Amino acid sequence: MPDLATIMLRRSAQSLDSGRKRCAGCRRTPLVGERVHEMDTGRMLCELCVSALPEEDRRAVSSEMVHALDKQLSVAPRAA
Ligand SMILES: [Zn+2]
Repeated sequence: MPDLATIMLRRSAQSLDSGRKRCAGCRRTPLVGERVHEMDTGRMLCELCVSALPEEDRRAVSSEMVHALDKQLSVAPRAA
């Protein structure tokens, strides 16, 4: 029977992972700061999987950076 700390750690990791996109190639959740690519086939691939593709198959429709938060941080003008 797993102890309470193991159960809490597992639930915490699952909640972090639940909202993020996964790579269709390796099923890995990309790290914060890593680039993910949407291919012309509609698949989302991480940087590692795209680099493993042959040059002629690297047709990304869009690319985006994985952010730590789903929402944008507010930016305020700097005081003079
Ligand atoms: Zn991948």
